[in-house]
Amino acid sequence: MRPLPFAFQSYGWAMSTAEAARIAGVAPHEGLRFDGNTPPEPPPYASEGTIADALAEVQRYPHGGFPALLDAIAEYAQVETERIVLGAGADDLLLLCGRAFAGPGDVVRVLDEPTYPVFRLAAWLAGAEVGDEGAVLTYCCRPHNPTGALGPLPEHRPLVVDEAYFEFAGETAAGTRGVIAVRTFSKAFGLAAARVGYAVADDDVAQELLVRQDPLPITTLSAALALAALRAGPPDVSPTIAERERLASRLRELGLEPLASHTNFVYVPMQAASATYQRLLMRGLVVRPFEDAIRITVHAPQANDRLLSALEQADG
Ligand code: PMP
Repeated sequence: MRPLPFAFQSYGWAMSTAEAARIAGVAPHEGLRFDGNTPPEPPPYASEGTIADALAEVQRYPHGGFPALLDAIAEYAQVETERIVLGAGADDLLLLCGRAFAGPGDVVRVLDEPTYPVFRLAAWLAGAEVGDEGAVLTYCCRPHNPTGALGPLPEHRPLVVDEAYFEFAGETAAGTRGVIAVRTFSKAFGLAAARVGYAVADDDVAQELLVRQDPLPITTLSAALALAALRAGPPDVSPTIAERERLASRLRELGLEPLASHTNFVYVPMQAASATYQRLLMRGLVVRPFEDAIRITVHAPQANDRLLSALEQADG
């Protein structure tokens, strides 16, 4: 097997909800996750009816792919269908870009680190190194995970812009020459477990990506869910944004300083981040810890209140 670079780190999943509940000594349904940046409830179109037709033909391959879904995505992204590449979540497309553009001996640039770890993975798994000098591809996350910031669009090309949180920010680089915008149905559309993402690229780049992509990266069941999501209309992110701002202002009342966010999470710098993470975990509340911050996914108001009061007590 081709050896991995010395610095290689595989993707580290957070512990399971069952494990978090076990540590906290609470029933699994009493634990709350604030670490996945996904909505607290499934969307209405995530129903058995939505996947019924796909199930009725589940013994067959989806010959011909997913033209209806591609058209619907193109319409949503306001580009031509030929510019869309489907993937099993945004992750699949980030990895595809890595192996399409880079190989052994190449350098891949990752902007604004620490950021989403799959950019580094994509470079390493392609056999390339992460660096700056002579980079053949640049990754950036916009809006940025984990800070939630919406910086200016970098000028490097070719540029992969991870727009997993696009709907919350409302700003996109899709359609910009030399840019591959990577998006997902995991966040605003609430379909993380269905694993559907897409890239919007220049015509020629999209065609080159397609020939390097898995023959069938998503399932008919997932495609049906994604299509139903688009048919339901653009997701209404305004309640999440309003709740994010309420959460941020309550955090400020506690003396914390959450950064301005263009996503469905807030990044809260703090010194004893790891201790705070542990204290919250002991109460069945899972946030995402960083060296000097915690990242909190915007949950339902009651759940956020539980976190806020735990933070208040943890502080005092
Ligand atoms: N990009 C970013 C910035 C993310 O935060 C996430 C989810 N954690 C992903 C991509 C992964 O998205 P998907 O579920 O579509 O693979």
